[in-house]
Amino acid sequence: MALEKAAELVSGSGYVVALVGAGLSAESGIPTFRGTGGLWTRVGEPSMNGYEQFLRDPIRWWEHQLDPGADPARTEFREAIDSAEPNAGHYALVRMERLGILKMTITQNVDNLHVRAGVANLVEIHGNRTKVRCIGCEMRWLRESFDYAKLPPLCPDCGSLVKGDTVMFGEPIPPSVIDACFRETALCDCMIVCGTSATVFPAASFPRMVKENGGTLIEANPNPTPLSESADVVLRGPTGEYLPELVNRLERL
Ligand code: NAD
Ligand code: ZN
Repeated sequence: MALEKAAELVSGSGYVVALVGAGLSAESGIPTFRGTGGLWTRVGEPSMNGYEQFLRDPIRWWEHQLDPGADPARTEFREAIDSAEPNAGHYALVRMERLGILKMTITQNVDNLHVRAGVANLVEIHGNRTKVRCIGCEMRWLRESFDYAKLPPLCPDCGSLVKGDTVMFGEPIPPSVIDACFRETALCDCMIVCGTSATVFPAASFPRMVKENGGTLIEANPNPTPLSESADVVLRGPTGEYLPELVNRLERL
């Protein structure tokens, strides 16, 4: 059965990496963006040139950010994140890491739930909603610890603009982050793709690169994705159920 086969693949691999998407946090009550019940499915896709708008008028962008009434969809997403707790899927990844099996988690999620679950090795490819970041030197601060008395906020170190850490449409992924992703993908010989539709690039290219390098793919997702066909094993169900089951088997091996 699929779980047994997944456990065998994982335990026979030398460098296991998890690639995570919004589905892992769905059971924590945070809506995905796409698909049934997804935030964008209900309210429409956001502007595709967010970063350009930020650069053109950062004061306006920050005023909008700091006004809780400005964007109801954003407020709904923030409130869901603020009241969310890590679920069994997040904890299963931490258990796998502590077994020495999972070497890195690359997440597309911005909700900070991996950190709260206690993960040690994490790349947040789309940033972290609880932080702000300097677009010049990549320094990060906790969102609430930064001073917004004078807009736009500037980096005390290099003087560049400070924005939310979350990567916007049209914004390049910060260099240290994308470098870490490619480094980990090159090392990886088994990628567990958890709750992602695998349609957002560059993250969607990592599993394909693992395959091209001769590695294996395990997909955990209740719905088919463009990756399903090339997966060596598909765990067709919620990550909050399947990932703990997978780790239970790994602990017994
Ligand atoms: P997506 O919204 O495109 O796809 C979500 C995937 O999760 C789907 O394939 C769906 O079948 C799957 N899914 C739904 N319920 C699941 C469950 N219980 N267990 C496992 N899988 C489940 O998400 P994406 O591919 O991650 O891309 C959307 C982008 O939006 C991401 O890059 C991310 O930055 C951002 N996002 C983040 C959060 C968050 O931080 N929690 C939430 C929504 C969107
Ligand atoms: Zn700086």
